[in-house]
Amino acid sequence: MENTLENKKVQNTNLSKLTDVAVAYGDGIGPEIMEATLKILDAAGANIKPERIEIGEKVYLSGNSAGIQESAWETINKNKLILKAPITTPQGKGYKSLNVTLRKSLGLFANVRPVTAYAPYVETNFAGMDVVIIRENEEDLYAGIEHQQTQDVVQCLKLITRPGCEKIVRYAFEYARAYGRKKVTCMVKDNIMKLTDGMFHNVFKEIALEYPEIESNSQIIDIGSARLAANPNNYDVIVTSNLYGDIISDIAAEIAGSVGMAGSANIGTNVAMFEAIHGSAPDIAGQKIANPSGLLNAAVMMLCHLGKTEIADKIKNAWLVTLEQGYHTADVYQKNISKSKVSTSEFADKIIDNLGKTPTELPSSKLSEGNGKITIPKYVRKEEKQTLVGVDVFINWLGNDPKIIGDALSSLDSFKMELKMITNRGVKVYPQGLAETYCTDHWRCRFVDIDSKINGEKIYNAVDFEKVIALLSKLNQEGFQVIKTENLYEFDGKRAFSLGQGE
Ligand code: NAD
Repeated sequence: MENTLENKKVQNTNLSKLTDVAVAYGDGIGPEIMEATLKILDAAGANIKPERIEIGEKVYLSGNSAGIQESAWETINKNKLILKAPITTPQGKGYKSLNVTLRKSLGLFANVRPVTAYAPYVETNFAGMDVVIIRENEEDLYAGIEHQQTQDVVQCLKLITRPGCEKIVRYAFEYARAYGRKKVTCMVKDNIMKLTDGMFHNVFKEIALEYPEIESNSQIIDIGSARLAANPNNYDVIVTSNLYGDIISDIAAEIAGSVGMAGSANIGTNVAMFEAIHGSAPDIAGQKIANPSGLLNAAVMMLCHLGKTEIADKIKNAWLVTLEQGYHTADVYQKNISKSKVSTSEFADKIIDNLGKTPTELPSSKLSEGNGKITIPKYVRKEEKQTLVGVDVFINWLGNDPKIIGDALSSLDSFKMELKMITNRGVKVYPQGLAETYCTDHWRCRFVDIDSKINGEKIYNAVDFEKVIALLSKLNQEGFQVIKTENLYEFDGKRAFSLGQGE
């Protein structure tokens, strides 16, 4: 939406409406920081109508292993917005992570974590740091699909999808556009994971072309994380997949010194959830000394999500002024810099007193300069021709000479499928392996059509699935223990599986 006078009028009309929000007071310091946050929202005229939901420790301990009551789901489905204080997950097995349940059940695909330094008021080596990490939230190794396949080998499936990549990458560029950010950096490891991380990177390059006004670049995640830790001021928005995002968002928050100050958003197509990044701090619960800034910053993100960016700026600026005035909670109190150590509610009252003021040293909040509105277009699937060209059969075998299993499999009379190679932990060991390669009990044996010839990207002939079934049956008859199979495909004639190292 453009910032025209007409649009401003529409926004202002929206401001006068009350917005229903499902509010979870959480555990530990949760209720204290939630009360402070809601008080500030109310004083700033955010027009939020909180509707309390029960989640967390009490619900877990009542025998509900998911930690969320049925009535809470109803409220969430009705309101589509959640402001959540941290919860305590009880120790012991059998309790499911509530955050993972909420993310997956509600399709919260984007985790957005702005990380800002507030030097000198919060100690950091990186004054001026202002980075937003946008992490894919549903896919990758977090799908939780793990199997033990042999006595010595376990696996975890890394699932990356085209719609998942498109949604998160587009969200990152839309975010940059909505909040006046200048650059988006993609971080993956596609030099090693050419298909999974390669898809993420390719989608990034395609979508970047649609946002010519925003600079884009890519870095391999390992060197990218190191550079972020050394020179965070070189980064603006970072988009990455689930596991990498989990790690670098903690690195970023730590070096900014703002673990206790940062909020985060979990955004879905229909529902969004906002929370502080810290936990329920049971060690200081009930002492009225907790810092409400993380949850308050999450609430500011919620206001932006609602298009109430002017109120968001008003609250953020009042909070910055309070930091500048030196009213600090115990966790960020510094003898030489702070003026007074304040309680949770005193801090909230100071922020309320400062509503309408702008900071003089820290950069003032400019959330309303963008349009604040992000829309993600629907994924449009482009049909591609999928052709079966072979199969990887994984066999549990206790021998240690690849030539023995290789020769045995090569001499199988198996309906015109032949052994092309064997790898162990991804390294080719047959034919022509190296004696030094360490082999486990987990052998990946690649079978292709007997007449397959390499021809550019199209490397194998099409195979009828009946032949694969016949091959498996034959292997079973011959006493090989097949522990899993993976079909080899081409899409539109392009190889869609990795080659063995050394193949
Ligand atoms: P934590 O973030 O709760 O506490 C770490 C340290 O930081 C503690 O010393 C604590 O006193 C301090 N701290 C945290 N937030 C603070 C604040 N707002 N003001 C002042 N000091 C603050 O991490 P933890 O101790 O590892 O976890 C405690 C509980 O929180 C655990 O049950 C954990 O599972 C849960 N947790 C919940 C969430 C969530 O709900 N999103 C996130 C992380 C941890």
